Amino acid sequence: MELHLITSNVYYFQGSVNIGYVKFSEREGMLIDAGLEEQAMKKVLKILKSKELPLTHLFITHAHADHYGGAEYLQGQQKVYTIAPKFEAAILQEPMLEPLYLFHGVNPIPEWRNKFLEGKPIKVDVILEEAGEVKVGESRFQTVDLPGHSYHQIGVIVKDILFAADGYFGVEVLHKHGIPFIVDAKQTIESLEKIKKLPCIGAVPGHGSYEEDFHPTIEENIQVHHQIEKLLYSLVDQEKDGISIEQLVTLACTEKGITIRSVPSFMLFRTAVTAYLTKLIQEGRVELIVRSNQLVVASSSE
Ligand SMILES: [Zn+2]
Repeated sequence: MELHLITSNVYYFQGSVNIGYVKFSEREGMLIDAGLEEQAMKKVLKILKSKELPLTHLFITHAHADHYGGAEYLQGQQKVYTIAPKFEAAILQEPMLEPLYLFHGVNPIPEWRNKFLEGKPIKVDVILEEAGEVKVGESRFQTVDLPGHSYHQIGVIVKDILFAADGYFGVEVLHKHGIPFIVDAKQTIESLEKIKKLPCIGAVPGHGSYEEDFHPTIEENIQVHHQIEKLLYSLVDQEKDGISIEQLVTLACTEKGITIRSVPSFMLFRTAVTAYLTKLIQEGRVELIVRSNQLVVASSSE
């Protein structure tokens, strides 16, 4: 966990999950996301203290445990005014909702409730209904809706630097994931197209490095999503009688060289695959049907 200066008073802590930091004044400063757990937050607080950087605010971009898991420890240490998007805020306050939705609403057994899926609950002081300008004391910053990776993810723009959360991934992380986690393929692409048009001089993804010239990385993300969509369509199209979503997850992951190592991990891939399917369904290219008491995805062309 290392603190990098991006431009005056705008920083980020680089780690497996990045955490942004903005110094608004001598008395006010804000973290953007909180890392996976207590240990990460302890390091952040130690570095801020050693550099005499103030901390009064916390912005959570989306309710994935690797981005908010450290927030409960922070809130226990000091008063921190916490801002989060609507819907995501509901999960931040009731984190069991994530394993609950990944497992189709079934009360999740303890094995499915790991720290990567469920952080400790936190308090949210301000819920953002939609992106726009946010005031902190005398300062202001912009936010931008970036849905697709999660239902209501919001990015932050300060001094023309975009904190994109998981609106895109660094190239290395993108290829490591094979099939990135998304909940809506159409919105994911639209958010990427939106990022391309933002008048920003640099961007920090949730996972990866700060880049001034981030456009090639955005293009690479768009390419990967198109490739996965194409792969899924061709896998469905090859099966005359349709294919179950689970089988499709298996075929797609095998094709991408992914080895799924746990049940929660399977469910994450299942969600992502289904999110590409809903785009194909809306475009009329595939359909989700029940055939002989089996839920199958079939090509619409026949
Ligand atoms: Zn995420």
